[in-house]
Amino acid sequence: MNIIDIIEKKKKAISLNRAEIDFFIKGIVSGQVKDYQASALLMAICINGMDKEETFYLTDSILNSGDKVDLKGIKGITADKHSTGGVGDSTTFVVAPALAAYGIKCAKMSGRGLGFTGGTLDKLESFDGIDINLTPARFIKQVNEIGIAVTGQSASLCPADKILYALRDVTGTVDSLPLIASSIMSKKLAVGADIIVLDVKTGDGSLMGSYNRSFELAQAMVEIGKAAGKKAAAVITSMDEPLDSYIGNSLEIKGAIETLEGERNLLFEVSKKLFALTLELAGVSGDEAEKAFYKVIDDGFALKKFYEMLKAQGVKDFTLKEAERKTVVEADVDGYVSKVAARKLGLTVMRMGGGRTVATDTIDHTVGIKILKRAGDKVIKGEPLAIIYHNKKEIDEVIKDTKEAFNIDSDKTQPNKLIYGVVK
Ligand code: URA
Repeated sequence: MNIIDIIEKKKKAISLNRAEIDFFIKGIVSGQVKDYQASALLMAICINGMDKEETFYLTDSILNSGDKVDLKGIKGITADKHSTGGVGDSTTFVVAPALAAYGIKCAKMSGRGLGFTGGTLDKLESFDGIDINLTPARFIKQVNEIGIAVTGQSASLCPADKILYALRDVTGTVDSLPLIASSIMSKKLAVGADIIVLDVKTGDGSLMGSYNRSFELAQAMVEIGKAAGKKAAAVITSMDEPLDSYIGNSLEIKGAIETLEGERNLLFEVSKKLFALTLELAGVSGDEAEKAFYKVIDDGFALKKFYEMLKAQGVKDFTLKEAERKTVVEADVDGYVSKVAARKLGLTVMRMGGGRTVATDTIDHTVGIKILKRAGDKVIKGEPLAIIYHNKKEIDEVIKDTKEAFNIDSDKTQPNKLIYGVVK
């Protein structure tokens, strides 16, 4: 077998077989397939796509390129949730403790922020002393003892994905459905939870953009999960607006804590849906599952679990550091908010130091934006639209960008649709 023939085949839009996909993945890990050859094949996949079988084989091959986590030592049902990435998207801090409080074991390996989208590990590092590099033994022990652990992904898991992702990032081949689906699902399957629930974002601040593409991605990932013998489902949720009102690392933790304390907001709604879907896959009826969510939140059990997890992972002081300065951004006109652009606000927080432009950047956990108005809200000239949390004196550019993220129309507008559908 040779890689040039495989590239030629995909170039002509002919399906690759399992042996050819294995040859490619083994070749990129061993170095036998060169970066320029892998890049050519990635571009051919990007242009000509892959059918269901090929996408599954690719996932399986990436999965088999490294170690797998052995969750057999965990007693009870294990669940994992994954979001395709968004702005103000802190559902992990609500859903995982809520599931643990209910009795479902949440063994979660998370990632760092990417571009304008935040990352769970970065947000957790807002707490001094947190350990997000748990050894496999400690990870399993913690999940068994308190029902929840969130840690970084071990380097030995899916090494082929790391190589492919780095190449995709610099060859314009990130936004390919089979490449995204296999990248996400290989890592989920390597962790190996019994239940996998996916939050696939759609809209302005999402990876896929349009609803149709988000739906196709959700379907592809659920099919891969099921083909691998897992219980899998996906919710398609809006990322036209930031999910929570807080954007930025420590601010998003603050927002999640307010939700765990009982505040009813958009983060609560999406978390409820993800929780209920996980319980449904565990055999609980939809109604019962929703009731259970209200109970674990309103009785404070989920919040207690969140603090238990932080303590188990080395946090001694739960105080979140705040930025030194706050600046209010006001509306210039009367009207109705028609859009609060998620991508623009995510990029603004990233440029303030809340995210990375290159992997080696260090981030400022304290900076961010709190949005005070949503699509459908009435505003009066001079009314606050947002608060910027910052550490610099000169933030004219940030104020301008934040203001531009709010579209204000003279005609009455409607709130955004939040939950688009479920794929089971
Ligand atoms: N997240 C991943 O892990 N992989 C992708 O390809 C895109 C988002």
